[in-house]
Amino acid sequence: MAGEAQEDCLFCKIVAKHIPATIVRETDTTVAFRDINPQAPTHVLVIPKVHYADAAELAAAEPAIAADVLREARSVADEDKLDSYRIVFNTGSGAGQTVWHTHAHVLGGRGLEWPPG
Ligand code: 5GP
Ligand code: ZN
Repeated sequence: MAGEAQEDCLFCKIVAKHIPATIVRETDTTVAFRDINPQAPTHVLVIPKVHYADAAELAAAEPAIAADVLREARSVADEDKLDSYRIVFNTGSGAGQTVWHTHAHVLGGRGLEWPPG
């Protein structure tokens, strides 16, 4: 069922601490951990503990938790002392989504070009 932990989901396993991650922040509803393949000096993933496939599904079902994800993205940026940063939700395989558990990429610590590739 949507929202419940999925046995075959990598990020549900990180939430459950069944696989290791470099966790930088954790709240009742979210976990933030460093991306295994960082694209910038700060590259942290903020995820809800509940399982939804993408940001829109999370926002529709659990708007308060979607807001928690955004607040945590800001806290990650503050902790890494970033004045500027980018929050990205890749949505759909054509946009580069590879993990089907909502995650915000928080990127910063270098100049970020626009438009993105
Ligand atoms: P997406 O491509 O779905 O937007 O983002 C998935 C992200 O998860 C990628 O940036 C990828 O490097 C990261 N990732 C994939 N597997 C792992 C893992 O086992 N641990 C961590 N920390 N990050 C992972
Ligand atoms: Zn999941």
